[in-house]
Amino acid sequence: MKILKFGGTSVANAQNIQKVQRIVSQIDSDKAVIVVSALGGITDLLLTAQNQAAEQDDTYKTTLAEIENRHIQTIKELLPIERQSSVLSAVKSDLNTLETLLEGAFLIGESTPQLSDKIVSYGELLSSFIISEYFISAGLDTSFKDSRELILTDETYGKAAVNFKKTNAQCQAYFDGNSKRITLLPGFVASSASGNTTTLGRGGSDYTAAVIAAAINAEELQIWTDVSGMYTANPKLVKQSRAITRISYEEAMELSHFGAKVLYPPTIQPVLAKAIPIRIKNTFDPDAEGTLITSMKNGGDKTVRGISYIEHIALLSLEGPGMIGIPGVSKRFFEVLSQAGISIVLITQASSEHSICIGISEAEAKVARELVNKEFDHEISTGKLQPVVVEEDLAIIALVGDNMKSHQGLSGKMFSALGKNNVNIRAIAQGASERNISAVINAADAKKALNTLHEEFFEARVKQLNLFVMGVGNVGSRFLRQLYQQRSFLKENLKLNVRVIGISNSRKMYFDPEGIELGNWEEALSKGEKADKELFFDRVRELNYRNSIFVDNTASEEVSDAYATYLRESIAIVTCNKIACSSDYSNYKELKALSRTYNAPFLFETNVGAGLPIIDTLKNLVASGDKVLKIQAVLSGSLNFVFNNFNADNTFKDIVKQAQEEGYTEPDPKIDLSGIDVMRKILILARESGYELNLEDIENQSFLPDASLKTTNNEEFFKTLEESEEEFQALYKEAAKHQSRLKYVARFENGEASVGLQHIPEGHDFYNLEGSDNIVLFYTERYPDQPMIIKGAGAGADVTASGIFADIIRIGNF
Ligand code: ADP
Ligand code: ASP
Ligand code: MG
Repeated sequence: MKILKFGGTSVANAQNIQKVQRIVSQIDSDKAVIVVSALGGITDLLLTAQNQAAEQDDTYKTTLAEIENRHIQTIKELLPIERQSSVLSAVKSDLNTLETLLEGAFLIGESTPQLSDKIVSYGELLSSFIISEYFISAGLDTSFKDSRELILTDETYGKAAVNFKKTNAQCQAYFDGNSKRITLLPGFVASSASGNTTTLGRGGSDYTAAVIAAAINAEELQIWTDVSGMYTANPKLVKQSRAITRISYEEAMELSHFGAKVLYPPTIQPVLAKAIPIRIKNTFDPDAEGTLITSMKNGGDKTVRGISYIEHIALLSLEGPGMIGIPGVSKRFFEVLSQAGISIVLITQASSEHSICIGISEAEAKVARELVNKEFDHEISTGKLQPVVVEEDLAIIALVGDNMKSHQGLSGKMFSALGKNNVNIRAIAQGASERNISAVINAADAKKALNTLHEEFFEARVKQLNLFVMGVGNVGSRFLRQLYQQRSFLKENLKLNVRVIGISNSRKMYFDPEGIELGNWEEALSKGEKADKELFFDRVRELNYRNSIFVDNTASEEVSDAYATYLRESIAIVTCNKIACSSDYSNYKELKALSRTYNAPFLFETNVGAGLPIIDTLKNLVASGDKVLKIQAVLSGSLNFVFNNFNADNTFKDIVKQAQEEGYTEPDPKIDLSGIDVMRKILILARESGYELNLEDIENQSFLPDASLKTTNNEEFFKTLEESEEEFQALYKEAAKHQSRLKYVARFENGEASVGLQHIPEGHDFYNLEGSDNIVLFYTERYPDQPMIIKGAGAGADVTASGIFADIIRIGNF
């Protein structure tokens, strides 16, 4: 005989119940027992109605009407018209009794646990009756049996304990004499020796099925639900989770105890004793394999089998210098809680025995605090112990697996992955079974922590990066296009799943928590909300994704001012904006320090030489112990473009204009022409070489006339260029006379830096620099005479975008 239990979602409405009927009609054993939950959501509604009534709030009537409608509609959609009236009248009679019970609670303004069980039992009583009538009308050989006549419990209302001896006897007697092919029963409900209705705890229909399965030695227990098995993590929270095909009873029990709601924790015990296999299946995808739970150890070399979590946890800590001297502190601590029926989810005790810390359900924290403080009243008043400290809004996250005990380094891996993502760990416990490592964290971090650990232990091969991109102009839009084109390559070859979650320009911003469709970001952004940099940050922080990266494609100081705030949240930064790294040395230093403290990469390769690997190379030289002695460089693609194209046949202004139009200059070309941009670049190289330097320390021999330097907008600036054409022509002719070319050169030596226009003779490394090329010569202790040279296109939106891209991939491989 097989036992099949169908949960709330599986029987939520007529359409779903028809699916259940199809599954039942295809059962391959000759007889089957079917256990059903209440229609999905009804138990919650019943409890709501009860609470409203007990608080003398007459909206319980509206709630009751909703309960009534759900059932009546289901009957009408499910049953043929000729059968409806008898079923409707039976159901209405039950609903009348229910109404009377609620009215009672309303009149006296309270409810008791006993009454509560009576009220909630109607969920399963109604659903099982309706479904059995439907099965009969659909031609299935079905009998209905009220579980209260089979399962006997004590009177712990809300979560009654089963009397197995009597229950087993009643079940055996009933099923021995039952000739029907299908027996249909309500889950969750039972009765006490004095005939009162009891319930088995929230989610308890699973348990009803297990108790009956064990009593009659069923060949298999099937739990039919709304997911395709027990997953590596809750599939509603971790998209990449997948069903575990085979798992041991112990592992399944541990996962369910730690929050894998798909199986009610007590369910395993009765069937484990009889070695009855449990199969978890999906009503909405019956062909999916599901999960098979048996006694065999089938993890193989898999260590971590699943990750689960429990919400609404509070941590109680008892501490004090007198702790060591007082005998039995832990015993008294546990006892006082256990006497109040408060169950302890997790315990940690520091080896110094100075403090003890336990995790309990948040709902019980208040009572627990009072009880513990009362118990240790004397010790607290004499200063031996401090009053108990309660922290709330916590969650427990647990790694589970039979084979974890024989593997070292798992907890190290767990905590370093959490640490990298700024998940603060409040307490740690490793169960005595060593089948579980759990950590108490802030509830707000639970989803991120689950996903981080899932990635670490189950998707080692694909890492997800979550980008928040500010600035979608020249560089930003090209970056998004490159990303769009490379997405599948990144996934297949680099095992990186790069998602863009938020984008913003100066007018609008748009977020899609699932990842923006990159083929269509312009349209999405145009429909976005008004841009707001602070709100943007708030969103990034609230989403709290693992591996979050803030990408700054702007040239705005206001944007770079926010870097510290991002880094403090462990959000990495990739930027082509030079302002932060060339700002005051103390700010640069602080950002670097924050990046280290919060484990958040801060990468700005594109600040010098666009896509050229200049900074990364420099970092590698310094990290490997080399020392930079001298740097000579042509670092302005813009100025190069200008001086390579400017000659006696055209005007300086036209060439600058062309450079601006082709994206070779900053939006404000004066920043390039005045040499400021080059100053910033040599400053960054000097700093990355390990020298402390500020912008004011750099000598700038500007070639621009004073009038141009004083302008405040582009229009004025171009006008002054036009007016000074003669001076520019003179510069050109003077160089030509010496068979030299004009190059804007940056130098750094002996701790001093300078930038300025120079005559470069033929044969010099800088002479043949074409287009917008950049070149850097690094003279170091290892390269004292023949410098290390990096040369190539050093400006332009496409190469800058690919430099940003490269930084993101660096983070992916980090
Ligand atoms: P039913 O009403 O069928 O008893 P439940 O809601 O009690 O269903 O349990 C199924 C739900 O359990 C899933 O929809 C899922 O959200 C949740 N769940 C939590 N952890 C896991 C897990 N590790 N594997 C599968 N489901 C899980
Ligand atoms: N209907 C009950 C509940 O929602 C029991 C169950 O569905 O397992 O908790
Ligand atoms: Mg359930």
